[in-house]
Amino acid sequence: MSARRHVIIGAGLAGALLALLLARRGHRVDVFERRPDQRLRGYEGGRSINLALARRGLSVLEGAGLGDAVLRRAVAMRGRQVHPLGAEGSFLPYGRSDAECIWSVHRGRLNHLLLDAAEAAGARVHFHHRLGLVDFDARRAEIIDDRDRRMRWIDFDALLGADGAGSALRNAMQGHADLHPETAPLDHGYKELEIPPLPGGGFRIERDALHIWPRGGYMLIALPNTEGTFTATLFLPHKGRMPNFEDIETAAQARAFFQHTFPDALALMPAFEEAWISHPTSSLATLRLRHWHVDSRAVLMGDAAHAMVPFHGQGMNCAFEDVAALDRLLALHGDRAEAFAAFEAERKPNAEAIQAMALENYVEMRDSVDDPAWRLQRALELQLAERHPGRFVPRYSMVSFTRTPYAVAFERGRWQRTLLADATRGLGALEEVDLGALDARITAELAPLPVEWLETAR
Ligand code: FAD
Repeated sequence: MSARRHVIIGAGLAGALLALLLARRGHRVDVFERRPDQRLRGYEGGRSINLALARRGLSVLEGAGLGDAVLRRAVAMRGRQVHPLGAEGSFLPYGRSDAECIWSVHRGRLNHLLLDAAEAAGARVHFHHRLGLVDFDARRAEIIDDRDRRMRWIDFDALLGADGAGSALRNAMQGHADLHPETAPLDHGYKELEIPPLPGGGFRIERDALHIWPRGGYMLIALPNTEGTFTATLFLPHKGRMPNFEDIETAAQARAFFQHTFPDALALMPAFEEAWISHPTSSLATLRLRHWHVDSRAVLMGDAAHAMVPFHGQGMNCAFEDVAALDRLLALHGDRAEAFAAFEAERKPNAEAIQAMALENYVEMRDSVDDPAWRLQRALELQLAERHPGRFVPRYSMVSFTRTPYAVAFERGRWQRTLLADATRGLGALEEVDLGALDARITAELAPLPVEWLETAR
């Protein structure tokens, strides 16, 4: 493919990575980013300070030559540390070995690394520059410099949209393609809090775990950061009969709620009131589109195409897979409209599958992790995974530790979950399960996963 000029909207996680990959191929790349350059001002925070990076996301970063650099800035999480109310906590490993883990990465630092690499490869990132209107017929886009509100029009062959859940490009595309956007807001929101390091340094709770305080209907989680802090996130209904954000009007009420519901977590947060007041309560939603592109003129990826609720920790991972696919397909197809159509056909079913799994995972995290029936199913699941490696792979593992396409993981996961539920119904212990019968069914009905999806260990 001959060198082309690519215009990317948004220099978040997806946009910065796409800029890097396209610039490495020798293309001229211009990225327009609404925010200031955070590398100069420091990360402003705001939402989801740290993110869980899974095998599939790491694979894409490795392909871009950044795997080791990212892992040096990450904390491995090898399982869930569950904190029930008034009872002893327990650690549930994610996988069969320590190699099956996810990594906690700092959003700002990861973004900085991607931006540095993209610029080093030759991409030009224009900060403070926001996409406004788009004239698709003339292939011209209005770019507004937010420092002085000056606007100018730029010519484009195609606009590559990585401008997040509130995408301006998506809004502009609506008049030109049957996008049919559907936003399904979650009736639960979230607020971030912080667990600082111990006074002499070091982590206050187990470092290598994703911590969960499940409370049936809502929950608190915490992910570690390299410097000894944890970012804790409270997920709670916006309103209703259960504890909810609307009813907690003051920091004193929030403390009383935590004292009653998460006393051990509250003890880890000396600056609780300050964080409660200064951090916003934010909303979550699932966004579905009928189409992701306008012929050869524009395409959407990442949250702009398929924002999802964060309960599988896959939004960024999915966005990275989008970027790798788009880069590959643009190189493969001389015709850009063909590349965009192939991209949509490949990625949309997978995005829809992970959106559905993310919604299901919320119920699992907040309601099921301390339920005995659920725990028995998970124990059997790990046992079957040992007996049928590469064939019976738990759904969480397929999503987090392999590169199995999400749509395949969703389908196989459904079959496996029915098997687990049927095999444990009415039973109290693993020893009562008829493993021989299950082995026979699995061998007969479940094909092994292709080895290229299974590379897990590092
Ligand atoms: P963004 O990261 O939102 O980037 C979009 C960029 O476009 C921004 O820089 C923005 O400033 C810019 N922009 C917006 N409008 C314009 C405009 N008009 N012109 C120019 N630029 C514009 N994912 C995981 O994989 N693991 C997790 O553990 C995880 N946890 C999460 C927890 C929470 C609470 C939330 C809310 C999300 C979480 N996610 C997680 C999802 C993840 O944050 C997103 O999927 C990811 O950020 C998507 O990347 P993106 O580049 O598509 O969008």
